[in-house]
Amino acid sequence: MPSPRRTLIVGDGLAGALVAWELYFRGLPFEQWSDGSPAASDVAAGMFNPVSFRRILAQWNAKVQQEEAQKRFRQIERELGVELWHRVPIIRVFPDEAYAALWKERSAGGHEVSEFLESLEPADLHKSIVAPFGAGRVRDAGWLDVPTFTQASRERWRSQGDWRCQGWSLADGCPEGFDSVLDCRGVGAVDDLAHFGLELRRNHGEVLRIQPAEDWGDETVNNVCWALPLPDGTYRVGSTYRWDVAEPTCLAETPAHLLERVSQARAEWNSPEVLNHEAGLRPSCFDRRPILGQVSQDHPYYYACTGWGTRGVSIGPTMARWVVEALQGEIPAVPDEVHPKRFRTFTEN
Ligand SMILES: Cc1cc2nc3c(=O)[nH]c(=O)nc-3n(C[C@H](O)[C@H](O)[C@H](O)COP(=O)(O)OP(=O)(O)OC[C@H]3O[C@@H](n4cnc5c(N)ncnc54)[C@H](O)[C@@H]3O)c2cc1C
Repeated sequence: MPSPRRTLIVGDGLAGALVAWELYFRGLPFEQWSDGSPAASDVAAGMFNPVSFRRILAQWNAKVQQEEAQKRFRQIERELGVELWHRVPIIRVFPDEAYAALWKERSAGGHEVSEFLESLEPADLHKSIVAPFGAGRVRDAGWLDVPTFTQASRERWRSQGDWRCQGWSLADGCPEGFDSVLDCRGVGAVDDLAHFGLELRRNHGEVLRIQPAEDWGDETVNNVCWALPLPDGTYRVGSTYRWDVAEPTCLAETPAHLLERVSQARAEWNSPEVLNHEAGLRPSCFDRRPILGQVSQDHPYYYACTGWGTRGVSIGPTMARWVVEALQGEIPAVPDEVHPKRFRTFTEN
């Protein structure tokens, strides 16, 4: 019997952690390396929401992927003995009458997004919320405690001798003792992927943790920006999206900008205390889909697993499964939607 393939996972953010668990549950040997550079996963709000609020549409494969995510994270919770997956409904405050009418129509049924939407009466809203055009609810939403997940996973592999503080890049090739490398470096993979004509973009984002003076209730309120209640009574507030900032730096103007936006959905406003302000770089692609799988005939051991963008929590477990299925030869290639060949500039097309 040939010995099972030993895989090197590079990166220990959300992607690296989920790929490690995918291999673990299959009984396949791996080692994980990380150089400790800043990770998007350390600052991610971790929200999952099956609805795209911009045009009131279901997210990509929302139902199937979110179900797979919930199942996988519950399984990991049992392994690690920590709580990670928190169900918290989202109240969407409508921006105008046209939006309110479209929500009402879609929540009535007959659309793929209908099953996720509830229409609300003013009396259904928490007293702190102001919504002149009304509001709706997405019940099947919440957040994953991403930093706790990645830290607890890292400790688990470290205690087994399967984690090392070590950098890697394509120039290092496939290190001795491994027969494949799974690249989960987030934006750390930008330069290497560019060699193959694959543009991985850095999407800069910031979040706050605040303590409001008033009671804001126990549901997330979204009016483009959002305030998410945390178990300790504080709220996470976010998010920003910028393409013109290439470092994970906190910008001085961001707290005022986010708080001004969030204040518009609250009946009373006394400036909250800002407890924390963090920034990160989301690894993103032009079409909001990841880059997965084998990238080059010249580097057959190399598999990409990045570009998870704004929705890493919801799509992550499915992406980790797909890349490991491709690695194991269970599927000939990853699905076209996430395959590098969809990039017009891909050098192997
Ligand atoms: C402000 C903000 C809010 C967000 N909110 C949400 C949200 O609500 N819901 C959601 O689903 N997603 C959210 N995201 C997106 C989410 O964070 C990402 O989809 C996800 O964390 C990406 O994980 P990753 O493992 O690919 O990358 P990262 O978390 O960036 O991890 C990359 C890893 O690679 C390591 N590394 C880098 N270079 C090297 C190297 N050369 N050698 C070795 N190791 C290396 C790093 O140290 C790190 O461990 C948010 C992101 C930000 C910034």
